Amino acid sequence: MSEDSHRAGIPVRWLRRHGFPVRVAACFVSVTLATVFIGMAPESNLIWVANGLMLAYLLLAPRRRWPAYMGAGFAAQIVGDTLVNPHSAMNLLLALLNLCEVMIAASLLRERSKELPRFTDLAYLMRFLAFAVLLAPAAAGSLFALAVIARQSGSPFTQFAQWVIADGLGTAVMTPACVAIFRERFSKKQNWARNWAYLLLPAVFTLAVFSQSRAPLLFLIYPILLIVLLRLGLGWASLVALFAATVGSWFTLRGEGAFAMFNSLTPMEPSIILQIFVAGAMFMLYSVSVVLGNHTAIERRLQKIVSLHELVTENSRDAILTCDFDGQPSYISPAMEAMTGWTAEEMKRLGGPGVVHPDDVAKVFQTIDEMRACQGSGMTEYRVRKRNGEYIWVEASLCVFVDPVTRVPIGIMNIIRDITGRKRAEQELRAANRALEALAVVDALTGVANRRRLDQCLVSEWRRGQREQKPLSLVLFDADFFKSYNDTYGHLRGDYCLKQIAEAALDVVARPGDLVARYGGEEFAVVLPNTGEEGALEIAEQICESLRRRFIPHSFNPHGVATVSAGCATMLPGSGQSAGALIEMADRALYLAKETGRNRACPASSLDDDAPRRQRRIRVPA
Ligand code: GH3
Ligand code: MG
Ligand code: MG
Repeated sequence: MSEDSHRAGIPVRWLRRHGFPVRVAACFVSVTLATVFIGMAPESNLIWVANGLMLAYLLLAPRRRWPAYMGAGFAAQIVGDTLVNPHSAMNLLLALLNLCEVMIAASLLRERSKELPRFTDLAYLMRFLAFAVLLAPAAAGSLFALAVIARQSGSPFTQFAQWVIADGLGTAVMTPACVAIFRERFSKKQNWARNWAYLLLPAVFTLAVFSQSRAPLLFLIYPILLIVLLRLGLGWASLVALFAATVGSWFTLRGEGAFAMFNSLTPMEPSIILQIFVAGAMFMLYSVSVVLGNHTAIERRLQKIVSLHELVTENSRDAILTCDFDGQPSYISPAMEAMTGWTAEEMKRLGGPGVVHPDDVAKVFQTIDEMRACQGSGMTEYRVRKRNGEYIWVEASLCVFVDPVTRVPIGIMNIIRDITGRKRAEQELRAANRALEALAVVDALTGVANRRRLDQCLVSEWRRGQREQKPLSLVLFDADFFKSYNDTYGHLRGDYCLKQIAEAALDVVARPGDLVARYGGEEFAVVLPNTGEEGALEIAEQICESLRRRFIPHSFNPHGVATVSAGCATMLPGSGQSAGALIEMADRALYLAKETGRNRACPASSLDDDAPRRQRRIRVPA
């Protein structure tokens, strides 16, 4: 608040230019009038308002301008006192002491606070009461008492008490009232237009109260002052109070008005009662203003919090939702509608579980229950049904919130983020990984397992056979005269033939645990877990037969079609051996099949020198 605020219906631009001299002149005139007004009625010397008026000017002015105001105030008091008591020798002393008192009060208040006066702030009000109402009048009063002793002009104690009471009371009433009035923007036209009735009513009422002495309406001024305070503020209310005090003084000092109705009073007493009445009115205005000031401060703080809250919730791309422990929403931020299409009302009607995917409801409530039990926070992911029926994936950060008074948990705050895009990317990544894994174990040409997969399978099946004490068989088969096939038909046809060989094997191998793999080049393998030698030989022969029946022309082959030779081996996996031994045996059996004419299957057991047994084992297909 600046000095520029003291405008009272005078053009603002003119006041801005000449504000300071005008205010100094106003200080001089008002202090003179106050001095004369109070001094003319010796009965009223219980209150001294001139100092309070000067103090108000000082508290609102920058320190560098204090000398001007003090000079004006000092001159005004000399002039005022001289007008009232032209021959008093005390006038100069009184003016000096008053100046001292105002200086002490202003310096102490300004020293403690760099701000302008705020009488609605309790701490400032207390400092004001201590320094300006008690300490400064006591200091000036003490000096006055010393002067009284020196001049032997009365009882120093009585004079001291009178000084402190008169000046303290005057400052207590005048300074806050004048500060409030000076800071009020009376120039605002709309205030006058809107509120003239609130001013007319107290003015008329005040005149009615003090101009007659029949109806005791005096104390109705208090509620009227309160109404003005609540409607128009402290400046206007103080102005009305001072108006009442002036009107009241006018009539009371003439022995008329509200206080004249008590016949039993001495001539002094109506004046004392009036002053107590005015002091009471000012006290009431300021105590109510302190409470209102606190309320306004709290309201502003709340408004700030509400604005911040709105800024965050209205603009967050994450939806914010509060709900009770049954999932019934109490607050839903606008982002939810952008995310799901549901309006807040629709979502409240449906309730939380109404829009969560049925498969995810249990998971969400489990998280809520856990949160409630530990009063902590956590995250969960679930699907939410949009208004158009689609589901989106959301990630929810949940935390329990408590009743601010009872501290009892009353619900869950849920910050919801749409993670559908992330989920889709994750799914695509998983699919890509699966495809990659498949590629890593599949032979690109034939589509059967590759050598890597074969090795993994042999190791794991070997272990399983060892654990379960079940036999493990391996069939190795190799295209006959395949080099010649390539030479005759070209590599493309050769590739096609290899695919046919793989398919011929797949046609035969049916059990889920069996595996057909390309061993390398034109050689293939079949792993047959839990299969004995006879079963393996059976499979090997069926593969030979399966390929023959495909009738792939092969002019170099004596049979006229593409054929394979197969060797099979069976072992009961033991701790001292490995799957390598099984491969080696099957390989030797394969070569035996090649050596003995191709287009056939040989078991490893026929590798010994027992000729009859080999004869029995080696079956040559027709
Ligand atoms: P045998 O009956 O003794 O097995 O005679 P073979 O000609 O099949 O034996 P060899 O090992 O000499 O020939 C294997 C041939 O297989 C050599 C190579 O040209 C061919 N081959 C290996 N891998 C592929 C392949 O991926 N595609 C094609 N088209 N040919 C292949
Ligand atoms: Mg070969
Ligand atoms: Mg071959």
